[in-house]
Parts: sequence; structure tokens; C-alpha cells
Amino acid sequence: MIPFFKIDEKIERASDIALKKASEQFKKIDEITEYNQLKVLSAFINNGVSESHFVSTTGYGYGDRGRETLDKIWAEVFGAEDALVRHNFTCGTHTLATALFGVLRPGDKMLSVTGTPYDTIHNVIGISGSGMGSLKEFGVAYDEVPLKDDRLDYEAIEKAVDESVTMVYIQRSRGYELRPSLLIEEIERVVKIAKKKNPSVIVMVDNCYGEFVQKKEPCDVGADLCAGSLIKNAGGGIASTGGYIAGRHDLVEKCAYRLTTPGLGKEVGATLGHNRELYMGLFYAPHTVGEALKSAVYISALFSGFGFKTTPAYDAERGDIVQSLGLENEERLVAFCKGIQSGSPIDSYLSPEPWDMPGYDSKVVMAAGAFTMGSSIELSADAPIREPFYAWIQGGLTFHSAKICAMLAAQQMLERGLLDV
Ligand SMILES: *Cc1c(COP(=O)(O)O)cnc(C)c1O
Repeated sequence: MIPFFKIDEKIERASDIALKKASEQFKKIDEITEYNQLKVLSAFINNGVSESHFVSTTGYGYGDRGRETLDKIWAEVFGAEDALVRHNFTCGTHTLATALFGVLRPGDKMLSVTGTPYDTIHNVIGISGSGMGSLKEFGVAYDEVPLKDDRLDYEAIEKAVDESVTMVYIQRSRGYELRPSLLIEEIERVVKIAKKKNPSVIVMVDNCYGEFVQKKEPCDVGADLCAGSLIKNAGGGIASTGGYIAGRHDLVEKCAYRLTTPGLGKEVGATLGHNRELYMGLFYAPHTVGEALKSAVYISALFSGFGFKTTPAYDAERGDIVQSLGLENEERLVAFCKGIQSGSPIDSYLSPEPWDMPGYDSKVVMAAGAFTMGSSIELSADAPIREPFYAWIQGGLTFHSAKICAMLAAQQMLERGLLDV
């Protein structure tokens, strides 16, 4: 019997079966977690981290050793020459936009090879919106190579990367799509193809949700630049805000000139006492990502056992922490999200309802009960109320809390007669 929570015996039995099914993947996840944890620990040791690196600076923040050393550690962990890790990045979109505006110039061309990028990047590129100062308004051209059967179209990529292309842009995570995430090996193949066609091309990777999912990161396989959010994987559930860019020294420098100003770059930026949590977040990140991955695999195994479509499948190789479940109708999506919310450490007493969210063309129901507002390395679920009625789930600070959350979601569905067990 599960202590402290009321779960139907049938769900407990299904959970035991799901755990057995997941055990092979759990072993693989443990092995990757250990590898990445050792990578991070050795970078801390190599850079001689001490308590003095946590000292808070104010004002200009000149000579902040904690900030400078964190950049070095980050570069080492991400297989890059240099990095820019700052609490000043407001979110992942801001970090990616800083990188794009940092390195692209009027007359340049950006080529997305993973189809149309994540929604929030559309205004940055100028695919939608006007008068906001998009890349397009600054004379940066954009083109994309669509995915073919949800996979990279290597032939079309080879054709598209010519002398006119300044940057090849890759989105590692599936975001809110049903396509599989990219594996690091696929990113490597794109890098090789792109550099062969145009040796001076800059390969940039949107690394959101991908950090520490595999043993290598994009720069390890030849990408020139990658960027992500600190309230997803790379902040380990501890960073309270921020983002990072890692990559070639000259490109990171340009990004720093964009974040602050030409000339000042990395030299300024008071850390206001954030250093300790950014260090601690990176230290925890491999483990936290491992917990999130186990949560995703377990949820996939449990709900496929109930007869629902899950993507990725529990035994599939993963390039990000995102899990989606095809729950087939509105009632189930709502019951699922209510169950997830009821098992969250924060705001468990709230009951999510579908609402018209700005920027969406349908109602959306969301469950999130996180220590950090909007954090998606903490367990959260959201679902647009429209065909094909999928819920997107990510995160899980601890596997055991995510596991009970998933069981409570199943329990909610069972109590409403929406689950066959
Ligand atoms: C989360 C995410 C972003 C950035 O989103 P923010 O909400 O601004 O942090 C960009 N791309 C992908 C693939 C993401 O998952």
C-alpha cells in the first residue's frame, strides 16, 4: 500500500508493471547521470571553486570572480571555448534572441533545419509580428528546411546550406510538437554536412530541454553556439531565473556585447548574490535531469499500459525531457491535469480549468505547482484543448514525487470513469 495517499489498488498494480517495463531505461539513465555528474564535479575541481565565488557584487559588478569562474566551468562542461551564464537573461527566448542578434548582421541569412522553430522565437525572427524590431526588420533573412516524416531531411539540408547561409539553426527539443527530439548524433551529422558545404557557417543549437539528457552536448560535436534556460534542465531546479550561451569564444564575446553593450561585454553585470544558486544548480543539474527523465519514462510506461498513445515510447532513446500523452478528449486532459496539480508540492489545493490563453488558438489547461514560477524542470503538464488531445509533460525534481503525481492523475481519471484498468 502507498503511504499518505489514496490510490486504487488497480493503479498500484499498473504502476508496478510500469516500473518493471521502465527498468532497462532507468539503468541507462543512471549511467548517463553518473557520467554527467562526474563531468560537472571535475569542472568544479579543475576551476578551484571556493566559498569566495559566492560573494555578492553590486553596481557595475567589475571583477566578479564568481561570475567569471562560472563561465569557465560552464564552457568546460558544455565542451565550449567560452560561456555567458547570467541571471539577467529573463528566459530561454531572451537568451536565444541575444545569441541570434549577437552574431547575425544585416544581409546575413539564418536557416532553420528543424522546420519552424519554437513559437516564442517567431517574433524574434520576424516570421510573425511587426514593429517589434525582429531580425527581419534589421535585414537578416530567414529560411527553413521542413522536417521530412518528422525527421531531419539531410538531403534537403545539404542542398540548402550554400554560401548565402550565415547560420544553421537547430532546435534539439521537440518543444510542443509530436516529432521526436534530436539525438546528439543527429546534430553531429547536420554539423558535418553544413560545414562541408560552407566551412564558415555558424551552427547554433537551441538546447532548451536537452542539457544532460545524453553524454555529449552540441559543442562537443562541433556546434559553434548553444543556448538554454536556467529554469529548465541546466539550472537543476535550483536557479531561480537566467539563461546561458556557450560556444566559440569570438561568438560568445559578441553575444556578451549584445546582452550588455559593445565594449563592455562580459566585464559588467552585478551578480546580486545569485552565484551560489547558479553554481549549485549546475552541480545538481545532471541528477535533476535524470529524475525528470525517469519521471517521463515511468509516465510513458504507465499510460501506455492504460492503452493511451505516448510519445516518446517508454523504451525509446531520448534527446530531451519532454513526454506527451494522447488522452483522446477534453475530459481526460482536464482530469489528468487536476491530478497532477493535486500532487504538486506548491498550490496542490488549486484545480486547473481550461482557459483562453493569449497566443493560443484554443483553450489550454495547465498544471504547475512549482517552487520557481514557470519552471519546467519541475513537474508540469499542459494541454491545448484541441485535436489530437495530447498533454505535454516535463520535469520532476524527484522521481518519487513525480511518480505519485502521475498515479494521482490516473486516480482522478479513474474516479471520473475515464480510465480502463
Ligand atoms: C522553453 C523553450 C524555449 C524558450 O522558452 P522560454 O519560455 O522563453 O524559456 C525555446 N525553445 C524551446 C525548444 C523550448 O523548449
